[in-house]
Amino acid sequence: MNVNEVLADLNRRFPNEPEYLQAVSEVLKSIEDVYNQFPEFERYNLVERLCIPDRIFTFRVTWTDDSGKIRTNMAYRVQHNNAIGPYKGGIRFHASVNLSILKFLAFEQTFKNSLTTLAMGGAKGGSDFSPRGKSDMEVMRFCQAYIQELWRHIGPETDVPAGDIGVGGREVGYMFGMYKKMAREHSGTFTGKGLEFGGSLVRPEATGYGNVYFLLNMLATRGIDIKGKRVAISGSGNVATYTADKLISLGAKVISMSDSDGSIYVPEGLTREQMDFIFELKQIYRGRIREFAEKYGCEYVEGGRPWSFPCDIAMPSATQNEIDGDDARALLANGCIAVSEGANMPSTPEAIEEFIKAKILYAPGKAANAGGVSVSGLEMAQNSQKLSWTAKEVDDYLHRIMNDIHSQCVKYGSEGDGYVNYVKGANIAGFMKVARAMMSQGIL
Ligand code: NDP
Repeated sequence: MNVNEVLADLNRRFPNEPEYLQAVSEVLKSIEDVYNQFPEFERYNLVERLCIPDRIFTFRVTWTDDSGKIRTNMAYRVQHNNAIGPYKGGIRFHASVNLSILKFLAFEQTFKNSLTTLAMGGAKGGSDFSPRGKSDMEVMRFCQAYIQELWRHIGPETDVPAGDIGVGGREVGYMFGMYKKMAREHSGTFTGKGLEFGGSLVRPEATGYGNVYFLLNMLATRGIDIKGKRVAISGSGNVATYTADKLISLGAKVISMSDSDGSIYVPEGLTREQMDFIFELKQIYRGRIREFAEKYGCEYVEGGRPWSFPCDIAMPSATQNEIDGDDARALLANGCIAVSEGANMPSTPEAIEEFIKAKILYAPGKAANAGGVSVSGLEMAQNSQKLSWTAKEVDDYLHRIMNDIHSQCVKYGSEGDGYVNYVKGANIAGFMKVARAMMSQGIL
Protein backbone atom coordinates (compact mmCIF):
# COMPACT_ATOMS: atom_id res chain seq x y z
CA MET A 1 0.00 0.00 0.00
CA ASN A 2 1.14 3.48 -0.80
CA VAL A 3 -0.80 5.66 1.62
CA ASN A 4 -0.56 8.80 -0.48
CA GLU A 5 -1.99 7.02 -3.52
CA VAL A 6 -4.84 5.49 -1.49
CA LEU A 7 -5.68 8.84 0.08
CA ALA A 8 -5.55 10.62 -3.27
CA ASP A 9 -7.97 8.06 -4.67
CA LEU A 10 -10.36 8.41 -1.71
CA ASN A 11 -10.13 12.20 -2.00
CA ARG A 12 -11.15 11.93 -5.62
CA ARG A 13 -14.07 9.63 -4.88
CA PHE A 14 -15.33 11.38 -1.73
CA PRO A 15 -14.23 15.01 -2.13
CA ASN A 16 -16.87 16.48 0.15
CA GLU A 17 -16.19 14.32 3.17
CA PRO A 18 -13.38 16.02 5.13
CA GLU A 19 -13.97 14.32 8.51
CA TYR A 20 -14.07 10.88 6.88
CA LEU A 21 -10.85 11.55 4.97
CA GLN A 22 -9.20 12.91 8.13
CA ALA A 23 -10.01 9.75 10.12
CA VAL A 24 -8.91 7.43 7.31
CA SER A 25 -5.68 9.35 6.82
CA GLU A 26 -4.73 9.07 10.51
CA VAL A 27 -5.29 5.30 10.58
CA LEU A 28 -3.62 4.51 7.26
CA LYS A 29 -0.51 6.51 8.09
CA SER A 30 0.00 4.61 11.33
CA ILE A 31 -0.66 1.11 9.94
CA GLU A 32 1.29 1.51 6.67
CA ASP A 33 4.46 -0.28 7.82
CA VAL A 34 2.64 -3.20 9.41
CA TYR A 35 0.26 -3.52 6.46
CA ASN A 36 3.12 -3.74 4.02
CA GLN A 37 4.64 -6.63 5.94
CA PHE A 38 1.71 -8.79 4.75
CA PRO A 39 1.66 -8.91 0.92
CA GLU A 40 -1.56 -10.92 1.04
CA PHE A 41 -3.38 -7.87 2.45
CA GLU A 42 -2.55 -5.98 -0.73
CA ARG A 43 -3.56 -8.93 -2.94
CA TYR A 44 -6.96 -8.97 -1.23
CA ASN A 45 -7.25 -5.16 -1.53
CA LEU A 46 -7.93 -5.08 2.17
CA VAL A 47 -7.30 -1.37 2.44
CA GLU A 48 -10.16 -0.28 0.18
CA ARG A 49 -12.52 -2.86 1.62
CA LEU A 50 -11.65 -1.59 5.09
CA CYS A 51 -12.00 2.12 4.32
CA ILE A 52 -15.24 2.05 2.34
CA PRO A 53 -18.35 1.12 4.37
CA ASP A 54 -20.18 -2.13 3.62
CA ARG A 55 -23.40 -0.17 3.06
CA ILE A 56 -25.13 3.10 3.87
CA PHE A 57 -28.82 3.79 4.30
CA THR A 58 -29.96 7.35 3.61
CA PHE A 59 -33.54 8.40 4.16
CA ARG A 60 -35.94 11.23 4.90
CA VAL A 61 -37.65 11.37 8.28
CA THR A 62 -41.00 13.16 8.36
CA TRP A 63 -42.53 14.21 11.67
CA THR A 64 -45.04 16.71 13.03
CA ASP A 65 -44.03 19.43 15.50
CA ASP A 66 -46.20 20.67 18.38
CA SER A 67 -47.70 23.44 16.26
CA GLY A 68 -48.90 20.92 13.69
CA LYS A 69 -46.25 21.83 11.14
CA ILE A 70 -44.86 18.92 9.13
CA ARG A 71 -41.08 18.78 9.24
CA THR A 72 -38.41 16.75 7.48
CA ASN A 73 -34.85 15.75 8.37
CA MET A 74 -32.14 13.74 6.67
CA ALA A 75 -31.17 10.51 8.38
CA TYR A 76 -28.56 7.78 7.89
CA ARG A 77 -27.11 4.51 9.09
CA VAL A 78 -23.60 3.61 8.04
CA GLN A 79 -22.85 -0.12 8.41
CA HIS A 80 -19.10 -0.02 8.11
CA ASN A 81 -17.70 -3.49 8.82
CA ASN A 82 -19.04 -6.66 10.46
CA ALA A 83 -15.98 -8.93 10.19
CA ILE A 84 -15.70 -9.51 13.94
CA GLY A 85 -19.34 -9.22 15.04
CA PRO A 86 -22.70 -7.58 14.31
CA TYR A 87 -22.57 -3.92 13.30
CA LYS A 88 -22.49 -1.80 16.44
CA GLY A 89 -22.36 1.95 17.00
CA GLY A 90 -24.32 4.89 18.29
CA ILE A 91 -26.85 7.26 16.81
CA ARG A 92 -26.19 11.01 16.80
CA PHE A 93 -28.89 13.69 16.63
CA HIS A 94 -27.32 17.10 16.02
CA ALA A 95 -27.85 19.87 13.49
CA SER A 96 -24.29 19.33 12.16
CA VAL A 97 -24.79 15.66 11.24
CA ASN A 98 -23.93 14.72 7.67
CA LEU A 99 -22.61 11.67 5.86
CA SER A 100 -18.96 12.65 6.25
CA ILE A 101 -19.27 12.81 10.04
CA LEU A 102 -21.14 9.51 10.27
CA LYS A 103 -18.69 7.78 7.93
CA PHE A 104 -15.74 8.94 10.06
CA LEU A 105 -17.50 7.78 13.22
CA ALA A 106 -18.38 4.36 11.75
CA PHE A 107 -14.81 3.90 10.50
CA GLU A 108 -13.37 4.76 13.92
CA GLN A 109 -15.93 2.56 15.62
CA THR A 110 -14.73 -0.49 13.70
CA PHE A 111 -11.22 -0.24 15.18
CA LYS A 112 -12.45 0.81 18.60
CA ASN A 113 -14.78 -2.18 18.82
CA SER A 114 -11.95 -4.44 17.73
CA LEU A 115 -9.83 -3.12 20.62
CA THR A 116 -12.49 -3.99 23.20
CA THR A 117 -11.88 -7.74 22.61
CA LEU A 118 -15.67 -8.19 22.30
CA ALA A 119 -17.44 -9.45 19.16
CA MET A 120 -18.71 -6.21 17.62
CA GLY A 121 -18.36 -4.73 14.15
CA GLY A 122 -18.54 -1.00 13.45
CA ALA A 123 -21.46 1.27 12.49
CA LYS A 124 -22.88 4.71 13.17
CA GLY A 125 -26.14 6.48 12.44
CA GLY A 126 -27.92 9.72 13.00
CA SER A 127 -29.80 12.69 11.72
CA ASP A 128 -29.50 16.45 11.39
CA PHE A 129 -32.45 16.68 13.78
CA SER A 130 -31.52 18.71 16.88
CA PRO A 131 -33.31 17.76 20.12
CA ARG A 132 -32.29 21.15 21.56
CA GLY A 133 -35.39 23.19 22.34
CA LYS A 134 -37.77 20.41 21.27
CA SER A 135 -40.53 19.17 23.56
CA ASP A 136 -40.58 15.58 24.84
CA MET A 137 -43.42 14.77 22.47
CA GLU A 138 -41.55 16.20 19.48
CA VAL A 139 -38.48 14.15 20.36
CA MET A 140 -40.67 11.06 20.71
CA ARG A 141 -42.36 11.59 17.35
CA PHE A 142 -39.03 12.11 15.66
CA CYS A 143 -37.47 8.99 17.23
CA GLN A 144 -40.48 6.93 16.19
CA ALA A 145 -40.38 8.20 12.62
CA TYR A 146 -36.63 7.53 12.40
CA ILE A 147 -37.12 3.92 13.51
CA GLN A 148 -40.11 3.31 11.26
CA GLU A 149 -37.62 3.49 8.42
CA LEU A 150 -34.53 2.00 10.07
CA TRP A 151 -36.03 -0.98 11.89
CA ARG A 152 -35.74 -3.29 8.85
CA HIS A 153 -31.98 -2.94 8.79
CA ILE A 154 -31.16 -3.51 12.48
CA GLY A 155 -31.53 -6.44 14.88
CA PRO A 156 -29.77 -8.18 17.78
CA GLU A 157 -27.50 -10.20 15.48
CA THR A 158 -27.43 -7.67 12.61
CA ASP A 159 -26.85 -4.16 13.83
CA VAL A 160 -27.19 -2.86 17.37
CA PRO A 161 -27.46 0.96 17.73
CA ALA A 162 -26.90 2.98 20.93
CA GLY A 163 -26.66 6.64 22.01
CA ASP A 164 -24.22 9.43 21.08
CA ILE A 165 -24.49 13.23 20.98
CA GLY A 166 -28.14 14.20 21.42
CA VAL A 167 -29.21 10.60 22.03
CA GLY A 168 -29.39 9.50 25.67
CA GLY A 169 -31.64 7.22 27.69
CA ARG A 170 -34.82 9.10 26.68
CA GLU A 171 -34.19 8.81 22.94
CA VAL A 172 -32.99 5.19 23.14
CA GLY A 173 -36.20 4.35 25.05
CA TYR A 174 -38.41 5.90 22.38
CA MET A 175 -36.47 4.24 19.54
CA PHE A 176 -36.44 0.85 21.26
CA GLY A 177 -40.20 1.13 21.87
CA MET A 178 -40.93 1.69 18.18
CA TYR A 179 -38.46 -1.02 17.13
CA LYS A 180 -40.14 -3.52 19.46
CA LYS A 181 -43.53 -2.67 17.96
CA MET A 182 -42.43 -2.87 14.32
CA ALA A 183 -40.23 -5.98 14.64
CA ARG A 184 -42.55 -7.68 17.14
CA GLU A 185 -39.65 -8.77 19.27
CA HIS A 186 -38.20 -7.72 22.61
CA SER A 187 -34.51 -8.23 22.03
CA GLY A 188 -31.16 -6.59 22.71
CA THR A 189 -31.35 -4.53 19.53
CA PHE A 190 -30.43 -1.28 21.29
CA THR A 191 -27.93 -0.69 24.08
CA GLY A 192 -28.17 2.11 26.59
CA LYS A 193 -31.71 0.96 27.38
CA GLY A 194 -33.47 1.70 30.69
CA LEU A 195 -32.69 -0.74 33.51
CA GLU A 196 -36.32 -1.92 33.56
CA PHE A 197 -36.18 -3.26 30.01
CA GLY A 198 -32.76 -4.79 29.50
CA GLY A 199 -30.33 -1.98 30.19
CA SER A 200 -27.05 -2.60 31.98
CA LEU A 201 -25.89 -1.08 35.23
CA VAL A 202 -22.88 1.21 34.68
CA ARG A 203 -23.71 1.82 30.99
CA PRO A 204 -24.41 5.55 31.49
CA GLU A 205 -21.14 5.93 33.42
CA ALA A 206 -19.05 3.64 31.21
CA THR A 207 -17.47 6.03 28.68
CA GLY A 208 -16.44 8.61 31.27
CA TYR A 209 -15.31 6.06 33.87
CA GLY A 210 -13.50 4.04 31.21
CA ASN A 211 -11.64 7.13 30.05
CA VAL A 212 -10.46 7.79 33.59
CA TYR A 213 -9.34 4.14 33.98
CA PHE A 214 -7.35 4.50 30.76
CA LEU A 215 -5.83 7.76 31.99
CA LEU A 216 -4.78 6.10 35.25
CA ASN A 217 -2.98 3.42 33.23
CA MET A 218 -1.15 6.08 31.23
CA LEU A 219 -0.19 8.07 34.33
CA ALA A 220 1.10 4.87 35.97
CA THR A 221 3.66 4.43 33.17
CA ARG A 222 5.30 7.62 34.47
CA GLY A 223 4.56 7.10 38.16
CA ILE A 224 2.19 10.10 38.29
CA ASP A 225 -0.63 10.31 40.86
CA ILE A 226 -4.01 11.69 39.75
CA LYS A 227 -4.68 13.23 43.16
CA GLY A 228 -4.66 17.04 43.07
CA LYS A 229 -4.17 17.18 39.29
CA ARG A 230 -6.09 19.97 37.52
CA VAL A 231 -8.25 18.55 34.72
CA ALA A 232 -9.96 20.57 31.99
CA ILE A 233 -12.99 18.81 30.53
CA SER A 234 -15.00 20.02 27.55
CA GLY A 235 -18.69 19.23 27.19
CA SER A 236 -21.21 18.66 29.95
CA GLY A 237 -23.13 15.75 28.51
CA ASN A 238 -23.01 12.04 29.26
CA VAL A 239 -19.29 11.50 28.75
CA ALA A 240 -18.12 14.75 30.36
CA THR A 241 -20.24 14.47 33.52
CA TYR A 242 -19.26 10.89 34.36
CA THR A 243 -15.61 11.68 33.64
CA ALA A 244 -15.82 14.55 36.11
CA ASP A 245 -17.70 12.41 38.61
CA LYS A 246 -14.97 9.73 38.68
CA LEU A 247 -12.14 12.29 38.75
CA ILE A 248 -13.64 14.07 41.76
CA SER A 249 -14.00 10.78 43.61
CA LEU A 250 -10.28 10.15 42.97
CA GLY A 251 -9.24 13.53 44.38
CA ALA A 252 -8.51 15.32 41.07
CA LYS A 253 -9.62 18.93 40.48
CA VAL A 254 -12.08 19.44 37.62
CA ILE A 255 -11.38 23.05 36.69
CA SER A 256 -13.57 23.43 33.62
CA MET A 257 -16.60 22.14 31.75
CA SER A 258 -18.42 23.57 28.74
CA ASP A 259 -21.29 23.33 26.30
CA SER A 260 -21.78 24.60 22.78
CA ASP A 261 -22.32 28.14 24.12
CA GLY A 262 -19.26 28.54 26.37
CA SER A 263 -16.98 27.32 29.17
CA ILE A 264 -16.83 27.72 32.93
CA TYR A 265 -13.55 28.09 34.84
CA VAL A 266 -13.34 26.95 38.46
CA PRO A 267 -9.61 27.04 39.39
CA GLU A 268 -10.10 25.45 42.81
CA GLY A 269 -11.96 22.50 41.25
CA LEU A 270 -15.66 21.62 41.26
CA THR A 271 -17.09 20.42 44.56
CA ARG A 272 -19.31 17.36 44.68
CA GLU A 273 -22.33 19.61 45.26
CA GLN A 274 -21.46 21.74 42.22
CA MET A 275 -21.03 18.58 40.16
CA ASP A 276 -24.47 17.37 41.20
CA PHE A 277 -25.86 20.75 40.14
CA ILE A 278 -24.27 20.44 36.69
CA PHE A 279 -25.58 16.91 36.30
CA GLU A 280 -29.15 17.99 37.07
CA LEU A 281 -28.84 21.18 35.02
CA LYS A 282 -27.65 19.42 31.86
CA GLN A 283 -29.07 15.92 32.09
CA ILE A 284 -32.46 16.59 33.64
CA TYR A 285 -33.41 20.23 32.97
CA ARG A 286 -31.44 20.44 29.70
CA GLY A 287 -30.19 23.90 30.69
CA ARG A 288 -27.03 25.83 29.73
CA ILE A 289 -23.63 25.72 31.48
CA ARG A 290 -23.87 29.54 31.74
CA GLU A 291 -26.49 28.98 34.46
CA PHE A 292 -23.80 27.33 36.61
CA ALA A 293 -21.64 30.45 36.35
CA GLU A 294 -24.65 32.61 37.27
CA LYS A 295 -25.41 30.51 40.36
CA TYR A 296 -21.83 30.11 41.64
CA GLY A 297 -20.33 33.37 40.35
CA CYS A 298 -17.39 31.73 38.55
CA GLU A 299 -15.67 32.84 35.34
CA TYR A 300 -17.62 32.06 32.16
CA VAL A 301 -16.18 32.46 28.67
CA GLU A 302 -18.94 32.90 26.11
CA GLY A 303 -18.17 30.87 22.99
CA GLY A 304 -14.84 29.75 24.50
CA ARG A 305 -13.31 26.31 24.86
CA PRO A 306 -11.49 25.24 28.03
CA TRP A 307 -8.02 24.81 26.51
CA SER A 308 -6.60 28.19 27.50
CA PHE A 309 -7.17 27.54 31.23
CA PRO A 310 -4.04 26.26 33.04
CA CYS A 311 -4.38 22.52 33.62
CA ASP A 312 -2.30 19.35 34.04
CA ILE A 313 -4.64 17.11 32.07
CA ALA A 314 -7.16 17.72 29.26
CA MET A 315 -10.10 15.41 28.61
CA PRO A 316 -12.01 16.66 25.54
CA SER A 317 -15.50 15.17 25.78
CA ALA A 318 -17.73 17.21 23.45
CA THR A 319 -17.18 16.78 19.71
CA GLN A 320 -14.76 16.30 16.80
CA ASN A 321 -11.96 18.79 16.00
CA GLU A 322 -12.47 20.79 19.19
CA ILE A 323 -8.71 21.06 19.89
CA ASP A 324 -6.79 22.70 17.05
CA GLY A 325 -3.06 23.38 16.74
CA ASP A 326 -3.28 26.67 18.67
CA ASP A 327 -5.27 25.03 21.47
CA ALA A 328 -2.69 22.23 21.67
CA ARG A 329 0.17 24.74 21.89
CA ALA A 330 -1.71 26.67 24.61
CA LEU A 331 -2.21 23.45 26.60
CA LEU A 332 1.45 22.53 26.30
CA ALA A 333 2.61 26.05 27.21
CA ASN A 334 0.52 25.81 30.37
CA GLY A 335 2.23 22.56 31.37
CA CYS A 336 -0.37 19.98 30.30
CA ILE A 337 1.12 16.48 30.70
CA ALA A 338 -1.70 14.28 29.41
CA VAL A 339 -4.64 14.36 27.00
CA SER A 340 -7.16 11.52 27.11
CA GLU A 341 -10.01 11.78 24.62
CA GLY A 342 -13.60 11.12 25.68
CA ALA A 343 -14.97 12.48 22.41
CA ASN A 344 -14.32 10.95 18.99
CA MET A 345 -11.50 12.63 17.04
CA PRO A 346 -11.57 15.84 19.17
CA SER A 347 -7.98 16.76 18.21
CA THR A 348 -7.08 17.95 14.72
CA PRO A 349 -4.09 16.31 12.99
CA GLU A 350 -2.02 19.41 13.81
CA ALA A 351 -2.92 19.16 17.50
CA ILE A 352 -2.02 15.45 17.58
CA GLU A 353 1.33 16.23 16.00
CA GLU A 354 2.02 18.81 18.72
CA PHE A 355 1.18 16.35 21.52
CA ILE A 356 3.33 13.58 20.07
CA LYS A 357 6.20 15.94 19.33
CA ALA A 358 6.11 17.10 22.95
CA LYS A 359 6.01 13.42 24.02
CA ILE A 360 3.18 13.97 26.49
CA LEU A 361 0.75 11.15 27.31
CA TYR A 362 -1.81 11.30 24.52
CA ALA A 363 -4.66 8.78 24.15
CA PRO A 364 -6.87 8.89 21.04
CA GLY A 365 -10.60 8.45 21.49
CA LYS A 366 -10.74 5.04 19.90
CA ALA A 367 -8.73 3.69 22.84
CA ALA A 368 -9.67 6.02 25.69
CA ASN A 369 -13.43 6.22 25.12
CA ALA A 370 -13.95 2.54 24.27
CA GLY A 371 -15.46 1.91 27.70
CA GLY A 372 -18.90 2.96 26.48
CA VAL A 373 -19.17 0.48 23.68
CA SER A 374 -17.51 -2.14 25.87
CA VAL A 375 -20.30 -1.97 28.40
CA SER A 376 -22.74 -1.91 25.48
CA GLY A 377 -21.18 -5.25 24.50
CA LEU A 378 -21.73 -6.44 28.06
CA GLU A 379 -25.35 -5.26 27.82
CA MET A 380 -25.74 -7.40 24.70
CA ALA A 381 -24.26 -10.37 26.58
CA GLN A 382 -26.68 -9.87 29.48
CA ASN A 383 -29.62 -9.58 27.07
CA SER A 384 -28.63 -12.85 25.39
CA GLN A 385 -28.39 -14.54 28.78
CA LYS A 386 -31.64 -12.87 29.95
CA LEU A 387 -29.73 -11.96 33.11
CA SER A 388 -28.54 -8.76 34.79
CA TRP A 389 -25.09 -8.47 36.26
CA THR A 390 -24.30 -6.43 39.38
CA ALA A 391 -22.71 -2.98 39.11
CA LYS A 392 -19.50 -4.39 40.56
CA GLU A 393 -19.36 -7.18 37.99
CA VAL A 394 -19.81 -4.73 35.12
CA ASP A 395 -17.38 -2.16 36.53
CA ASP A 396 -14.72 -4.84 37.17
CA TYR A 397 -15.14 -6.07 33.59
CA LEU A 398 -14.88 -2.49 32.29
CA HIS A 399 -11.69 -2.03 34.30
CA ARG A 400 -10.18 -5.19 32.82
CA ILE A 401 -11.09 -4.14 29.27
CA MET A 402 -9.58 -0.66 29.66
CA ASN A 403 -6.39 -2.15 31.17
CA ASP A 404 -6.23 -4.59 28.28
CA ILE A 405 -6.68 -1.85 25.67
CA HIS A 406 -3.87 0.06 27.35
CA SER A 407 -1.61 -3.02 27.18
CA GLN A 408 -2.40 -3.48 23.48
CA CYS A 409 -1.45 0.17 22.84
CA VAL A 410 1.83 -0.26 24.72
CA LYS A 411 2.56 -3.49 22.81
CA TYR A 412 2.09 -1.98 19.36
CA GLY A 413 2.92 1.67 20.10
CA SER A 414 6.18 1.58 22.08
CA GLU A 415 9.00 3.39 20.33
CA GLY A 416 12.78 3.00 20.58
CA ASP A 417 13.17 5.65 23.29
CA GLY A 418 10.40 4.11 25.42
CA TYR A 419 7.76 6.68 24.39
CA VAL A 420 4.35 5.09 23.87
CA ASN A 421 2.66 6.37 20.73
CA TYR A 422 -0.92 5.47 21.66
CA VAL A 423 -2.23 6.54 18.24
CA LYS A 424 -0.04 4.04 16.48
CA GLY A 425 -0.62 1.39 19.14
CA ALA A 426 -4.42 1.67 19.03
CA ASN A 427 -4.59 1.80 15.24
CA ILE A 428 -2.34 -1.21 14.69
CA ALA A 429 -3.94 -3.34 17.42
CA GLY A 430 -7.45 -2.51 16.21
CA PHE A 431 -6.55 -3.03 12.57
CA MET A 432 -4.79 -6.40 12.90
CA LYS A 433 -7.80 -8.18 14.36
CA VAL A 434 -10.23 -6.84 11.75
CA ALA A 435 -7.72 -7.60 8.97
CA ARG A 436 -7.23 -11.22 10.06
CA ALA A 437 -10.99 -11.74 10.33
CA MET A 438 -11.55 -10.28 6.84
CA MET A 439 -8.79 -12.42 5.34
CA SER A 440 -10.32 -15.58 6.84
CA GLN A 441 -13.75 -14.81 5.45
CA GLY A 442 -12.78 -14.42 1.79
CA ILE A 443 -13.42 -11.65 -0.67
CA LEU A 444 -16.76 -10.08 0.20
P1 NDP B 1 -24.08 14.48 24.85
O1 NDP B 1 -25.08 14.88 23.85
O2 NDP B 1 -24.54 13.86 26.11
O3 NDP B 1 -23.15 15.72 25.24
C1 NDP B 1 -22.43 16.41 24.28
C2 NDP B 1 -21.78 17.64 24.93
O4 NDP B 1 -20.91 18.24 24.01
C3 NDP B 1 -22.80 18.70 25.33
O5 NDP B 1 -22.32 19.41 26.45
C4 NDP B 1 -22.83 19.57 24.07
O6 NDP B 1 -23.23 20.91 24.33
C5 NDP B 1 -21.39 19.54 23.64
N1 NDP B 1 -21.30 19.69 22.19
C6 NDP B 1 -21.88 18.92 21.24
N2 NDP B 1 -21.59 19.35 20.01
C7 NDP B 1 -20.81 20.43 20.20
C8 NDP B 1 -20.18 21.34 19.30
N3 NDP B 1 -20.31 21.21 17.98
N4 NDP B 1 -19.43 22.34 19.85
C9 NDP B 1 -19.30 22.48 21.19
N5 NDP B 1 -19.88 21.65 22.08
C10 NDP B 1 -20.61 20.65 21.59
O7 NDP B 1 -23.06 13.51 24.08
P2 NDP B 1 -22.04 12.45 24.67
O8 NDP B 1 -21.51 12.93 25.98
O9 NDP B 1 -22.68 11.13 24.60
O10 NDP B 1 -20.89 12.46 23.57
C11 NDP B 1 -19.79 13.37 23.63
C12 NDP B 1 -18.66 12.85 22.76
O11 NDP B 1 -18.26 11.54 23.22
C13 NDP B 1 -19.00 12.66 21.26
O12 NDP B 1 -17.85 12.92 20.50
C14 NDP B 1 -19.33 11.16 21.18
O13 NDP B 1 -19.16 10.65 19.87
C15 NDP B 1 -18.30 10.60 22.15
N6 NDP B 1 -18.61 9.28 22.69
C16 NDP B 1 -19.76 9.05 23.37
C17 NDP B 1 -20.01 7.80 23.91
C18 NDP B 1 -21.20 7.52 24.76
O14 NDP B 1 -21.25 6.44 25.36
N7 NDP B 1 -22.15 8.42 24.88
C19 NDP B 1 -19.09 6.68 23.67
C20 NDP B 1 -17.85 7.06 23.01
C21 NDP B 1 -17.66 8.31 22.52
P3 NDP B 1 -24.79 21.34 24.33
O15 NDP B 1 -25.33 20.96 25.68
O16 NDP B 1 -24.75 22.80 24.10
O17 NDP B 1 -25.44 20.59 23.20
